[in-house]
Amino acid sequence: MAHPGGKIRLYVSSDLYAGGGVPLNPDQAHYLFRVMRQSAGGMLTVFNGRDGAWAAEITEAGKKTGLLTAREQTAPQVSPPDLTLLFAPIKKARTDFIVEKATELGARRVQPVMTRYTNSERLRIDRLQAHAVEAAEQCGGTFVPEVREPVKLDAVLDSWDADRRLMFCDEARHAGPAQTVLDGYVPGPWAILTGPEGGFAPEEAERLRKQDYVVPVTLGPRILRADTAVAAAISVWQTVLGDWQ
Ligand code: SAM
Repeated sequence: MAHPGGKIRLYVSSDLYAGGGVPLNPDQAHYLFRVMRQSAGGMLTVFNGRDGAWAAEITEAGKKTGLLTAREQTAPQVSPPDLTLLFAPIKKARTDFIVEKATELGARRVQPVMTRYTNSERLRIDRLQAHAVEAAEQCGGTFVPEVREPVKLDAVLDSWDADRRLMFCDEARHAGPAQTVLDGYVPGPWAILTGPEGGFAPEEAERLRKQDYVVPVTLGPRILRADTAVAAAISVWQTVLGDWQ
């Protein structure tokens, strides 16, 4: 008998297989039983970023605990291409937006980078990771990008793997339009880099432009806000080299 997964989607950490138990943590139990008013016997969709989406049944519903049982897979695992988003964090709400959009548009990992002109409040990576989970739950995806601890731009470049191309969003007019430039490349390991509200310092931009693995691009004739630039950059990369075809 088919088990339609139900409309609620929940990211879980347990392995998923037919008959496998999925214990709920207190936050998940609160969400399911208090907020969504679910009870034993209810069905929902769960995913863990590895095993695709599964229809799961609520088999125990307690006040602060609960247990689901995975019944059958409803969608295969679909992970995004090997794309890392490197971005200079900005104000809290806009940084949240960046993580959310990177998840929806399809990045494999999200790496905040501290540049010369980065001027952000302290980053709470656990909060940002929770935003990524929420975005994946809402967009119907089966993958949650890893949000990494911030690192300095210079340190990132010092240890760069030269096999990974870096699309450098460079609002200076040295670069060509993103779509045209990317057309000359093939899919593979890639990263995208966007700067803070104040842009990149001249020495940072100069260092970037000198690297063989760096592909400078422009995103049109207007200066975009940092969060808009992230969404635009991932969109054009996905269109030319990613999984939007
Ligand atoms: N340096 C700029 C200034 O103060 O005039 C503004 C930086 S912009 C708000 C933030 C980042 O978004 C830039 O560092 C760049 O990575 C990206 N960006 C914005 N508009 C862009 C464009 N038209 N082409 C390429 N990148 C852009």
